[in-house]
Amino acid sequence: MSKVIIQKGNLVLEDRTIQADLVIENGKISAITLEAQPDEDCTVIDATGKMVMPGMIDTHSHVTDPGPYNYREDWRGASKSAAAGGITTIADMPLPSIAVLNRDRFSEKLRVVEDSSVVDFALWGGVTPLNIDRLEEMNEAGCIGYKGFMCFATKEYPQITDGYLVEGLKKARQFGGLIAVHAENAEVADMGCKSFSAADCTDEARFDDARPWWVEYEAIQRATLFAKVLDAKLMVCHMTITQGAEYLKDLKSKGARIYVETCPHYLLLEDEVYDNPDFLEAAKFVCAPPIRKRTDREALWEAMQNGEIDTVATDHCSFTTAQKRAGQYDFTKIPGGLPGVEHRGVLLYTCGVAEGRIAAPDMCRVLCENPAKLYGCWPQKGVIAPGSDADIVVYDPETEGTISAANQAQHVDYTPYEGMRTRGSIAQVYLRGQLAVDHGQLLAAQGRFIRRGKCGL
Ligand SMILES: [Zn+2]
Repeated sequence: MSKVIIQKGNLVLEDRTIQADLVIENGKISAITLEAQPDEDCTVIDATGKMVMPGMIDTHSHVTDPGPYNYREDWRGASKSAAAGGITTIADMPLPSIAVLNRDRFSEKLRVVEDSSVVDFALWGGVTPLNIDRLEEMNEAGCIGYKGFMCFATKEYPQITDGYLVEGLKKARQFGGLIAVHAENAEVADMGCKSFSAADCTDEARFDDARPWWVEYEAIQRATLFAKVLDAKLMVCHMTITQGAEYLKDLKSKGARIYVETCPHYLLLEDEVYDNPDFLEAAKFVCAPPIRKRTDREALWEAMQNGEIDTVATDHCSFTTAQKRAGQYDFTKIPGGLPGVEHRGVLLYTCGVAEGRIAAPDMCRVLCENPAKLYGCWPQKGVIAPGSDADIVVYDPETEGTISAANQAQHVDYTPYEGMRTRGSIAQVYLRGQLAVDHGQLLAAQGRFIRRGKCGL
């Protein structure tokens, strides 16, 4: 593979941004230097005025392939959308693809993804009452962590009840594994939703009342208590609430091995999206936990500014408008989840860096560095440093655009961010030194499986 020099870009390093040349050889970053000397067969990219950052990592996606729902989205399409969004490594959740609850299922999914993904990828396994004794075999297969649903999930992938959550935390601790939870109190959320449904409530704006903040807060407290007393590692997925941010800040400051993830839709959207006279339009925004209030959104930004949010992941779960509307006028039947891999980077830049809420290294910390550390692939991934994989995003901060389903790479016919003005755009994406995306055009690329390594946050 020939040498590439990305010249005079603003390189986002761990703690600062510097203008320098980045040299790529054999798929790795070989040097960061003030003036690289090009040789004959070297490709030189002028990145003057552009931000050069590590390839982004998404640690929370739900691609439906392989499995019974792969008519919704296949791995090639999903990973192409991710690449268009600057993601060079994607870590996929163990459902609603085939439920990844043991080594055989892990291998089965791995085979499909290996053939199809255009970006590097890692895989989650599940933790349920059915498979506590299978966590270790998945760890040996390279699994990065184990996701449990404290709310009700599916028959094939049941809720992790408290006793099994404790057993799972103990088991994962033995080999340094990470348990991650969807934190909502199962019965309270379920009965809340059913009571609205029984009353024929067609007001989507009541969705947040059906599973309110304290449903999430209680589950966060319960799961983190177990993890703290057991000295086990725990990730709180898609955290949405002010009270949770305050509680987790306190726990983290006392040394608990608790990690916090939030998502762009909780940072950017507010519960007014549900307050739409067209119920079926509001259906597009149904996800769990629900999109919260402005005060929660502001609290999440503040927590991110203070370094208390570890990752911003997409929780990508892609449905078409027709699939979302199949629930008709009962919000308990609308499939939950929003598409997200394509727009996360540009949204975080627009609303975070361009609006002065966070600096570029802060953005890279939650999109690149912390994800790589948490899932044990740092410094191979997540950082611009000699010896690391040359997963690079060249970002042009000078352009402006508008998000629209009409011009997105992903196949779904809507985006939750329709009409939102954006600052900057992704000029190029390199995957292990190979140009994978050039000004929106997807080029040939082949992803590789990334096993969980040893390092951690
Ligand atoms: Zn999820």
